[in-house]
Amino acid sequence: MFQEVSQDQIQAVTGGMLLNRNEELLISQTAIDSRQILHPEKTLFVALRGAKADGADFIPQLIDLGVKTFLVHQDFEEKAFPDLCFIKVSDTRRALQLLAKFQRSLFTNPVVSITGSNGKTIVKEWLGQILGQKYAVAKSPKSYNSQVGVPLSIFGIESYHQVAILEAGISKAGEMAALEEMIKPDLGIFTNLGSAHQEGFESLESKIQEKLSLFSDSNFLIYCSDQKQVSEQIEAVFPTKKRIAWSDRAGADFTRSVKVKAKGARLILMKSDLSTHTFQVPFSDLASLENITHVIIAAMTLGQTSESIQEGISHLKSVDMRLTLKPGINDSLLIDDTYNNDLAGLKVALDFMQQQRPKRRKILVLSDLLQQGSPEKIYLEVTDLIRKYQFDQIYGVGKEIFYLDREFPESFTGFKSTEELLAKLDPDSFANDMILITGARVFGFEEVVNRLQQRIHGTTLEINLNALTHNYNFYKKLISPKTKVMVMVKAFAYGGGAVEIANQIQTMGADYLGVAFSDEGVALRKQGIKLPIMVLNAMQESFGLCSEFDLEPVVFSPDFFESLASWCTIHQKTIRIHLDMDTGMHRLGFENKHLGELKRLIKTNPQLQIASIYTHLVGADEEIHQEFSFSQLRTFEEMKNEILEVLPYKPLIHALNSAGIVAFPDFQFDMVRLGIGLYGVEVTGKHSLALRAISTLKTTISQIKELDPGETIGYSRKGVLNSGGKIATLAIGYADGYDRRFSNGKGYVLINGHKAPIIGNVCMDMCMVDVSGMDVKAGDEAIIYGEQISLKELADQIGTIPYELLTNISTRVKRVYYLD
Ligand SMILES: *Cc1c(COP(=O)(O)O)cnc(C)c1O
Repeated sequence: MFQEVSQDQIQAVTGGMLLNRNEELLISQTAIDSRQILHPEKTLFVALRGAKADGADFIPQLIDLGVKTFLVHQDFEEKAFPDLCFIKVSDTRRALQLLAKFQRSLFTNPVVSITGSNGKTIVKEWLGQILGQKYAVAKSPKSYNSQVGVPLSIFGIESYHQVAILEAGISKAGEMAALEEMIKPDLGIFTNLGSAHQEGFESLESKIQEKLSLFSDSNFLIYCSDQKQVSEQIEAVFPTKKRIAWSDRAGADFTRSVKVKAKGARLILMKSDLSTHTFQVPFSDLASLENITHVIIAAMTLGQTSESIQEGISHLKSVDMRLTLKPGINDSLLIDDTYNNDLAGLKVALDFMQQQRPKRRKILVLSDLLQQGSPEKIYLEVTDLIRKYQFDQIYGVGKEIFYLDREFPESFTGFKSTEELLAKLDPDSFANDMILITGARVFGFEEVVNRLQQRIHGTTLEINLNALTHNYNFYKKLISPKTKVMVMVKAFAYGGGAVEIANQIQTMGADYLGVAFSDEGVALRKQGIKLPIMVLNAMQESFGLCSEFDLEPVVFSPDFFESLASWCTIHQKTIRIHLDMDTGMHRLGFENKHLGELKRLIKTNPQLQIASIYTHLVGADEEIHQEFSFSQLRTFEEMKNEILEVLPYKPLIHALNSAGIVAFPDFQFDMVRLGIGLYGVEVTGKHSLALRAISTLKTTISQIKELDPGETIGYSRKGVLNSGGKIATLAIGYADGYDRRFSNGKGYVLINGHKAPIIGNVCMDMCMVDVSGMDVKAGDEAIIYGEQISLKELADQIGTIPYELLTNISTRVKRVYYLD
């Protein structure tokens, strides 16, 4: 925080009502999450009300931690806590923003802000690196760019910072005003206008207009004038002296020309005074070139010389800047954060680590933080963080990091260089650990990750945990705040990896998990998942496991009820169960004719506690089955009412799956069961733009071959290139879950953004694609499906449904999780 504030100041800034002031206390930190408290006394806890939870629920816990100052909604009952300070406001999120606005107003150095559809985070990171060579830079951690993310980013600005770079992102109309008011950028960058996520805006024009309002008070705005719609609006609204346009055509403030070379590109910028500035950049794809152009012009506008910008660029790599969770050596888990190592980034990584499977040794590999600013202050904070997150072992690389040796003599081992670390590190000393690797780019920690990761073969499934949260929140908005959510994580969480997904779901605040079989539930419990778990199809043999691991079986017939009841009697156990009503699915479940017997069984067997009663719709995704769905729901209401009559307590009632949530919002009852929607497929097609793909299946090219006309490709000689051409062999086959029905042109993959159709039959571990005329080489990445290739479309192509494609991906394909 730029400046410490008293409780009175907080009250004045937020316009709240203050109870129990403590004049001595000064606040230097803000937290919205009970797990992130470092200095409880100095922390203001802001109780936000979100889709998932009410922050106020955590207040007793925070009081135990020692937090003394709380910003709460006005209806909060503070009487139970007489000696603590509560500042009551009508809207805590708004109050958080007002505090951020206040802190921002104290910072007089330049603030750069970036908005647009794509590239915001990368432009921020690159600009941060280039300016960071000379200045102490504050920047938003990861993509903290929202109504809550921006305030948190602003609180990261400290008095020693010389420039701040903040990202701004909006998802619907009306949101920019609050961001503008807080950020008040001096220099703006508009990256570009994608077509994604049009939802939430009336039209493209209104979306541009809204985004541009961020810059209404800025001195300068950098943009690409080749984007017609954007530049037209900018030119209509902003005066010439404020606009800094670049273009690939002559006439802009900066005219760009690009020469693609073997490794990267040469980029020449000509200013309107005809001076030219040449830069060598290490990449040649259009998106990176666009991003770096914004970065260069911003750095020039801030007074950097071409030489110093070039120096910064030559240290940039188009590396993966995401925080990823990967399978590591000897069943360890790796958190790979080898790109971002300022304090703000470190906190995000630590927080992410904390959400992962508990009960592991925690290892930290950390380099010097090459962040400008007072080292004492920085390492003091690092020390606090390490204490708080309780690392068992710390490996430090660099010079300043040896500071930690004094603080952690038992657990710290220091190395002067990454080479020394690699030479002395025995990978086999790790087993079943949680290893966080985070370091400045120049330390080349990629090599450390390489050494410690489980060999990842060509094919990986990357899962975007932010997209998962996005999808979850989309469904949360469709249901009432009181309705609970059960997330179905059966079949390895629809292929995504049950434990990691369940972890994230637990963090997001879901209420229940659903699995198909008991062993799936046992696996979740063994990894520390605490949520209640319903098991759709628990077998007689697994009753013992259900009881031992606190799993709640679905009971679907009188016979099943009787055998589970007698098992419980013999073992003197009680078990929570769920009753499945068959209203038309005709898979499992009680039919109407069983109800009499069921009621008798319930009355005589109190050792089975009814946790819920539910039914499952057969065609909620298809309009033609609407009448049938209604009749199912009506039948269900009658059936559950009949059962409720004999129960002295009230179980949860539920019926809707993902499609049902969209189509039958009036039948939420107490809970909904979310499946495919969470994983990014909106099966009714009504909101297909609103969800994000959560997974990308990728592989690499193993070999390129040039073929003569008439030569055939693969088994049974099914593939032919009549006039010859070029093929690429990919490291994925039907044993990985790439369906053989994609053979012979039914499927395609994306390589460097271009479609390459499957040629010949898909083999067990490989397949071939036609890359004639494309510039590709062995080692290039091929995307099988992901954000750019819709699962629905692919599934239609081979006559199946997205569910099958998702769940077919073999467990031999490594799952990698990331936050973007
Ligand atoms: C799989 C399943 C769901 C989830 O269905 P989606 O269509 O994936 O949302 C809900 N309820 C039951 C009983 C299921 O088996």
